[in-house]
Amino acid sequence: MMRQYREAKAACGDALLLFRMGDFYELFHDDARTAARLLGLALTSRDKGENATPMAGFPHHQLESYLGKLVSLGVRVAICEQMEDPRLAKGLVKREVTRVVTPGTLTDDALLDPRESNYLAAVIGGGDKEQASVGLAWVELSTGRFHAAVFAREKLADQLARIDAAECLVDEQSELLPANRNGPLAGQASLPIRGAPVAADRNVCPAKTLYTRRPTWAFSLQTATQALTKQFGTATLEGFGFDNERDALALRAAGAILDYLAETQKTSLAHLDRLLPYYTGTTLEIDESTRRSLEISRTMRDGRREGSLLAVLDRTTTAMGSRHLADWVANPLVNLTEIDERLDAVAELVADGRMADELREKLRGIYDIQRLLARITTGRASPRDLAHLGQTLSALPAVKAKMTGRNSVLLSRLEAEVDLCPEIRARLESALVDNCPLQSREGGMIRAGFNADLDNLHELAAGGKQWIARYQADESARTGISTLKVGFNKVFGYYIEVTHTHGHKIPENYTRKQTVKNAERYITPELKEYEERVLTADERSKELEYELFVQLRDFVAAHAKRLQATAHALAQLDVLAALADLARARNYCRPKLVEGPTLTIRDGRHPVLDSLMPEGSFVPNDTEAAADGLILLITGPNMAGKSTYIRQVALVSLLAQIGSFVPAKEATLGLCDRIFARVGASDELSRGQSTFMVEMTETARILNTATARSLVILDEIGRGTSTYDGVSLAWAVVEFLHDRIACRTLFATHYHELTDLAKTLGSVRNLNVAVREWEDQVVFLHKIIEGAADKSYGIHVARLAGVPREVNERAKQILAQLEQEHLGEDDRPKLARRGKTRRVGDLQLTLFAVEEHLVVKQLRELNVNELSPLAALQVLEQMQAELKSLQQ
Ligand code: ADP
Repeated sequence: MMRQYREAKAACGDALLLFRMGDFYELFHDDARTAARLLGLALTSRDKGENATPMAGFPHHQLESYLGKLVSLGVRVAICEQMEDPRLAKGLVKREVTRVVTPGTLTDDALLDPRESNYLAAVIGGGDKEQASVGLAWVELSTGRFHAAVFAREKLADQLARIDAAECLVDEQSELLPANRNGPLAGQASLPIRGAPVAADRNVCPAKTLYTRRPTWAFSLQTATQALTKQFGTATLEGFGFDNERDALALRAAGAILDYLAETQKTSLAHLDRLLPYYTGTTLEIDESTRRSLEISRTMRDGRREGSLLAVLDRTTTAMGSRHLADWVANPLVNLTEIDERLDAVAELVADGRMADELREKLRGIYDIQRLLARITTGRASPRDLAHLGQTLSALPAVKAKMTGRNSVLLSRLEAEVDLCPEIRARLESALVDNCPLQSREGGMIRAGFNADLDNLHELAAGGKQWIARYQADESARTGISTLKVGFNKVFGYYIEVTHTHGHKIPENYTRKQTVKNAERYITPELKEYEERVLTADERSKELEYELFVQLRDFVAAHAKRLQATAHALAQLDVLAALADLARARNYCRPKLVEGPTLTIRDGRHPVLDSLMPEGSFVPNDTEAAADGLILLITGPNMAGKSTYIRQVALVSLLAQIGSFVPAKEATLGLCDRIFARVGASDELSRGQSTFMVEMTETARILNTATARSLVILDEIGRGTSTYDGVSLAWAVVEFLHDRIACRTLFATHYHELTDLAKTLGSVRNLNVAVREWEDQVVFLHKIIEGAADKSYGIHVARLAGVPREVNERAKQILAQLEQEHLGEDDRPKLARRGKTRRVGDLQLTLFAVEEHLVVKQLRELNVNELSPLAALQVLEQMQAELKSLQQ
């Protein structure tokens, strides 16, 4: 048996092997130690002395819960089952690894969060020719959505953040491996390895990517195209929009995924029936740090969904809708027509609230068709799964009825896409009982009347009363023995009892078995045969039920495409209805989307804060950015509401491009191609990089990639360095954005020195946050007003926070002194822009540095001892002339 164990172990790589032994799953050697530590199992030992083998285990019915725990800790688990009944096995029981469960390949309902997609990704870097590119593929095994694309290498981290995969396959020799500090993933704390030691810490993001190394050959183009064409049953992949040469990297990544699935799943993957291309130009680009800063799908602090924009939006009633919403939120649109299509649909549902409510009510009766289908096509569905699909199909007509006669293009299209699949519904309804069991081999799921053979078996198993009665009547008539009876006892089984008075009428084929008081008992070959059938009927009925169940499952699987399409339509419908519900509940308005750099919001609110605060307590604010004032510089003390305001603008724009209404009275928004947010430094420390370095890297990326159609949100740039450095950098960044990019920008800062920028830069506008001072106290009104802030109030905030009065008083003195010495009114002009001599876009930080003037230089280098008085005079005159010329 240990040889069997070693073979299984060798076949499953670094996965933890659960080895079925009777009623237990056992682990040995290092696996046992690991499991004991992670699961708190008792570590025992098999055999004693030299051959002692560490061992740990648990009863088989606890598999699911232990499996869930291991997988959530980022551990791969292989399951080795007994392939035959130990009672019937000759010698050693046959065992096989039936599947390998990994974070990215889950299909079990119990191990998946129904509201979250669970992606498996694969990434491959380009060789010499395609060095600047990477191939990325991602699949959701539980629904079968399978994508692949080639990206620029520097976009990899952003794409991985967008997909947010549970597991990612990497070529074992690849420099992309996160462990390699030189790779593009190096130092990206946002891509940590999901591992046991940290997961116990509740502050660690619950969902992080596990990186799995795969052999290089698994990424080869030849293997990939072969596997992919075989999987999809096509000759080439061109039909899906992939070109063998151009998209080689994408295909190689997709191939690696298929290879991994074949190795771990050991089952049909029929639901992976196509590979979808992904075009970056069709979605709003959001880089990884922006995604994080804006807390789009997860919060920054603990990586959870609660508190994120997604959580606020998620009023969906089905799990499919919830996952689909996450997809929309992760991939906002850039095409006006598509966005308007969604907005039209939401508007129609907002306008007819009653219909929308009823629709949502009907949707509640819909099960997760996508995940049901995945289990059905991979042969893992339970009878209850099929029953749930049946119930869903029964609920569909009511949903569809609510959708008919709608005006909006999208709703009408979705209505048309909902296929009621009447023959599948009829089949499921007639085949399955109402309370279907989970187990498929124990019988009890097929409805009476569905299959005559099965009904007979059931009847037989139940004692075959009808058959007995008929047999008894037939025999009685044939023999003329009116008192003939068929009975049963444990010793002889079925018998025919004839009273002594009829003894002379016994036919030939009766064999006497027993004599009782007034009668004789006989058996007949027919009765014995019947008895045999009765006794095996139960077993056979279970077998037949299983067969019928498999047929039913295969029948449904054969129609998977239609059901998928229906599921997809229902998911979208659910999302639209949820967005409409939110819009009505929180008073959102329909945004007007236009081309061009417009940004007009009246009474805008921060969608998340607004939803957390009592209705009406969030202070709404206007935003107006147009050609003559594209850059809004918001100054004001800390805690005034600057971050909230600028994030609110980004989130409103994002919501609009998802196709959602927005938290405002009115909004006209120019389409964005990208949204960038560079926000607060405090949360970055855990990333193990210098805070300032992170800040500057992100700033550099914005300056290098933003376009005139982008929206840029900057919060406290330059905070991570000394004040002068900070102000200078911030200053230069604003100039660059103004001169070179000219995109809508909201820049929040507590450096009020920056407000001088508005004097020299045409489209910079100053805003500040209203603050009321009252008896030496500061009250934040959270209202954004025109103009520059004149005070920093930092010291007031410190007071609010409970810093001792003594420290506060002293700080005030120091402030006064500093202001006099360094940045008094007289010094202000130094900060102003250097007129025409400044080269546009020159990022050299010359604002404060006292540049050494030519004259000074000359003076320093002058050797006075060698100068004649006349020469000295000449030099002096020359210097003076130079200085004069500068002043003009
Ligand atoms: P700053 O960036 O200026 O330091 P924040 O934007 O972080 O300030 O806001 C500080 C706090 O003020 C927020 O946590 C929030 O509770 C509150 N706040 C901000 N804006 C508003 C608003 N418009 N209405 C109500 N409360 C707000």
